[in-house]
Amino acid sequence: MSTKSNLISRREFNRRMAGLGIGLASATVFPSFSHGITESYPAGKYLDVHHHLGKEFQADPDNFSMDSIIQWMDLHSVSQTVILSAILYPFDYYSAYGRGIPDPDSLLEKFQETNGRLLPFCVVHHDAFDTEKEITKILKGFKKQGLIGFGELKPRDKAGEAGNMALDDPVMMRLYAACANVDFPVLFHIDNRFAVDTPGLPAMERVLKEFPEVNFIGHANGWWNSISGDVKKFKGYPKEKITSGGAAGRLLDEYPNMYADLSAGSGLNAITRDPEIGREFLLTHADKLMFGTDALGGEGRESHFEFYNNIDLPEDVKAKLFRDNAHRILKI
Ligand SMILES: [Zn+2]
Repeated sequence: MSTKSNLISRREFNRRMAGLGIGLASATVFPSFSHGITESYPAGKYLDVHHHLGKEFQADPDNFSMDSIIQWMDLHSVSQTVILSAILYPFDYYSAYGRGIPDPDSLLEKFQETNGRLLPFCVVHHDAFDTEKEITKILKGFKKQGLIGFGELKPRDKAGEAGNMALDDPVMMRLYAACANVDFPVLFHIDNRFAVDTPGLPAMERVLKEFPEVNFIGHANGWWNSISGDVKKFKGYPKEKITSGGAAGRLLDEYPNMYADLSAGSGLNAITRDPEIGREFLLTHADKLMFGTDALGGEGRESHFEFYNNIDLPEDVKAKLFRDNAHRILKI
């Protein structure tokens, strides 16, 4: 809920946003997303930390609503949902890919209307700025507008194709440094095409060491293949039994700033491919993993609910995985 102290005048707000090239027509600051559930929406069983705007938003960028996501949340008992890649900056840089995406101003207005039920993350393009200082300034502005994190960091080139950016490339390090300056968590898509690492996750480990103050959230095939110790090459959805010594578990164990979300086919496959070991992984890392779906605009990923609604785990572990860890790690 907003309090007087965190409201700024409309004029001042517009002035600040103009500095970022963002001008909201009817500007107010977001309600602060401070701690937990407000009375304006149901408490819910889950907090989904990984959701994207769907096709509807791309098809009709001038006339869209968040209703499909809210309805999906009500149906599945989801209290709050993190919308990744909600604000892509600079906007022109991304619209050059030919994707019809709503402009940031109208998106921010729609998020505001959900009173903190939808929690947007932003992405600043890795190639668009030369200095940590510039990126920090942009992120500071977004933070003031209520955005709560950075991601999904899934680097693409100017044509919109996979960017093949090493996870520890200097260009990526600059983004992490800026996130450290504004206390944003970073969620990324780790594989061999986007945020690139190799079996054993050596680049991820270097990043964890270099930025101990940033909370990093692993996701996608590269991360989740690494639940097993026998990875030679990242691939889609391995069905083999999990062998010991996986890099994912080791990094979660050794680094307080390493986390992961359970979203997407990659997350669900990792936990279900070898059910006993998968359940053990959830118990062992019960303070480090967060429920997520990777659904689009309130569509898909029913299998996540089918699985987690029926999982046999102690109630306190379910509470951590389904929502409490997200509150703590994302500071919401
Ligand atoms: Zn995603």
